[in-house]
Amino acid sequence: KAQAAVKIAKRSGKVEIYRNGVLKEAHRRFLVESRLRDALSKGALTLAFQPLIHLSSSEITGFEALARWNDEELGAVAPVEFIAVAEESGLIVELGRWAALEAAQTLARWDEAVGQTLPVGMNINLSPIQMARDDVASMFEEALRFSGIEGRRLTAEITESAIIADPEKARKLLFALKELKMSIAMDDFGTGFSNLASLHSLPIDILKIDRSFVSTMMEDHDKEVIVRTILSMAESLNLKVTAEGIEDQSLAHRLQQWGCWQGQGYYFAKPMNEAEAFDYWRVRWNFETV
Ligand code: C2E
Ligand code: MG
Ligand code: MG
Ligand code: MG
Repeated sequence: KAQAAVKIAKRSGKVEIYRNGVLKEAHRRFLVESRLRDALSKGALTLAFQPLIHLSSSEITGFEALARWNDEELGAVAPVEFIAVAEESGLIVELGRWAALEAAQTLARWDEAVGQTLPVGMNINLSPIQMARDDVASMFEEALRFSGIEGRRLTAEITESAIIADPEKARKLLFALKELKMSIAMDDFGTGFSNLASLHSLPIDILKIDRSFVSTMMEDHDKEVIVRTILSMAESLNLKVTAEGIEDQSLAHRLQQWGCWQGQGYYFAKPMNEAEAFDYWRVRWNFETV
């Protein structure tokens, strides 16, 4: 009898812990969503900018704009958490619109600060949830009109899942972005169901090899093979390649030797705030060459 009671207690204990866990998770999600809604309406999000480096010349070709959120109550919330919540709740539409506008306006502010058009661009991430809507091209059109910058300076980073979800819709959107003179990069390349046919038939300019392949390719032969395969395929298809997650010089050097066009990672710089990113560009830019 006593043993049975212990068993029940143990079991119900487990149930309690389980329920607590689920409740905690649901509560956290609820909290993050309501605080995020509030932060968006108050303009409390910021963008961080991580440089993109042309590997053979070491020149800065542009920056990737990455959303940051430091909440009064929750503290700094990781993008993987709040982007997921934003996608589930639909807030990603507003967040994405803000990010596109803010990224374009940042370039415009930098141009103004140096009195000329900077030879750098900006990469903006697009969620598959945004891509399922019909207003992405007009969102970018608005960002371009508002900031006065040229479309050729913006790159949309999309993911394979958005193309798989609705290939026809994706095709229309990508061609609309090309009409705006924007570039298209396939983000996290290698992690999804790489549809090779779509790489050929869609107006994709750049493959961004996911950092899960890049950062460990020196120790893991399989990853090296994947990276080299992507590089040679990209060359045949006339696509440029950006390697993410370059954390040391030997990786940068090796990728450059293999013909990789561009790199991004902590070895060059972590994502920085607007002022830091501008300084990063300014100290490396030789004004005499203008
Ligand atoms: P992503 O688009 O693949 O961005 C690259 C992520 O890798 C960034 O994380 C960046 O900080 C990190 N990273 C860059 N170099 C290195 C490195 O050398 N080592 C390591 N360990 N990490 C590196 P972050 O900023 O936390 O963003 C995570 C993800 O959140 C992004 O992945 C993107 O999918 C999403 N995200 C961020 N901002 C936005 C946004 O404005 N809109 C949308 N839709 N998604 C966003
Ligand atoms: Mg990205
Ligand atoms: Mg990426
Ligand atoms: Mg990634």
